[in-house]
Parts: sequence; C-alpha cells; structure tokens
Amino acid sequence: MKPCVQCCCPEVAPSSYRSQCQSKPLFDLRRHRSIEALGHTKPLVKLLSGSSQCLKPLGGCTGLQHFRSIACSSMTELPRAAGINSEPSKEVRRIWETAQAVCFDVDSTLCEDESIDELAAFLNVGEAVAALTASAMGGSVLFQDALKARLDLMQPSHQDVQRFLASHPPRISQGIPELVKALQGRGCQVFLVSGGFRAIINPIAAMLGIPQDHVFANTILFQEDGSFAGFDEKELTSQGGGKASAARLIKEKYDFSRLVMVGDGATDLEARQPGGADIFIGYGGVVERPSIASKADWYVYDIRDLNQALQSRP
Ligand SMILES: [Mg+2]
Repeated sequence: MKPCVQCCCPEVAPSSYRSQCQSKPLFDLRRHRSIEALGHTKPLVKLLSGSSQCLKPLGGCTGLQHFRSIACSSMTELPRAAGINSEPSKEVRRIWETAQAVCFDVDSTLCEDESIDELAAFLNVGEAVAALTASAMGGSVLFQDALKARLDLMQPSHQDVQRFLASHPPRISQGIPELVKALQGRGCQVFLVSGGFRAIINPIAAMLGIPQDHVFANTILFQEDGSFAGFDEKELTSQGGGKASAARLIKEKYDFSRLVMVGDGATDLEARQPGGADIFIGYGGVVERPSIASKADWYVYDIRDLNQALQSRP
C-alpha cells in the first residue's frame, strides 16, 4: 500500500472512489480548500466532472484523503466550514493591530510550497519521506527523530540544495510582501519560524527584507566537500514544541508583550501558549486543516484580509 505523496495519507481509496480517481485528472490541492473540511465529500464526482478550470495535473494518486482534498477552482464559491472564527473578536483585532512582533510559519503559509517534501521529491525520495512525515504526524515518533530520519533519507549535499534553489524559486503567498512591508512600516518586527531549513528560508527572508537574525529554522550541516553531515540539534525548531520555544525567546529577548503567530499547522497553533504567542491566526489559503481552523483565534483564507485589517484601523 503506497501512501499518497502529496498528503502523506496511508489510505487507499475504496474501489468506488478509485475508479473515479483514476479516470479523472487530479489537481494540485495546495491552491485549493479541502472538500472534506467543507463537508462536501459526497458531491465529489460532480465537482470533479466540472473541473475544467483546475490546475496542474498530479496523476497517479489513489489516496482517499488526497482524493477528498482535491478541489477545483469552482469550489472557492462554496460556503466555508462552520465553527471557525473567520472574523476576529475585538480583543484579537486589537492584538493584531498593536502587535510588536508577528511570526510567520513558512511552508504553506508564507510560501505555497512544502519545502521538505519538495526537496525530497527533487532528490527522488519523495514517497519515503512522505511516509515518515505521516508517521511523525501520527505522534508515534519524536519530532527530532522524524527530522533526522527524513534528512538521513535525503542526504542533501550543499550542491543538491543549491541546484534545488535554482530550479525551485519560492512561490510566496499572495499578499505577503505587502503585509510584511506594512507591519514593518508600523514598527512591528517580522520573524520567520519554521521547521524547514535556513538554506531555503534565508533567501526568502532576504527577498522580503526580513533580517537573518529574525529567522528561526533548521540548519543542515555539510562536510568541507559539501556532502551531508547532519543537522544542528541546537536549533529550537529541531525539537518538539520548537515554535513555542522560539516565540517565548523572541518575547523575552525583545521584551515584547504582544506577539502573533500566523501559520497553517499544529506546531504553529502550539506556539500560542502562556509566555509564547498571544494569538494564533490560522491560514487556510494553501491547505485547510479543520482541526487547526477550529482552534484559531482568527482564521483567514486570504493573507490580504490581514493587511486590510491593519489599513482599516482608524
Ligand atoms: Mg506550515
């Protein structure tokens, strides 16, 4: 049984779904919202049959979870899931408007990419790394062990990373450059906090005018000849709970009292805790995760909504 490379789901679709799955083109789910989250698993066939506007064929996937997650552009018209704070409370809005620091997750938030998966695919170990990611997400493996196992599989050399960067320019989410600029213009410090790699994230930070010492991410270590030598276990984000640790450190170091975390995943939500992020803003514009969306202080599907909230402040 092969897990789905895109969503790490170990399931195989039941035959009734599989026949449809294989007879229709599959599409890049990262640009679209989850069908499952919207409670629209049943009209799937109908939706797929009207998929003429869809993007980027992936092909080959029979994973049920992936199948449910496929959406075509017409789905953006569908109603959004209930129980989500799509409007901020007064207090949440006040904290957003007066934040001294905003920390952005990178993969599937600041950028549309999931860089570890893409680097793995580039190194031809995409499926094996996805399977490890799935087991890590199931909570059966320590975070640092999962990171080590994935890197050991990839064994990326310095040269590999450079070739990857040259052939995979980052796809920065729409509205991010303007939002970073607006926040910085208000005197708010912008940080990137990611379980990804500095080698990939530092160039993105430079593009956005974010200082390198505002980047918290993992460091791949190389031998003198550029071959893979491991990773820096001292990086906060190489450990479980690393984003919460980074948020606490930032607040202490700069003496901030209002820090916001923006992200799409469980480790981002985890940063919202006493001493860490004061509010968590979930972002579902790339991948919507219902279990995260329902716990976010504010959940947005468009980064530009965050910018608009800043601009509309009297
Ligand atoms: Mg993410």
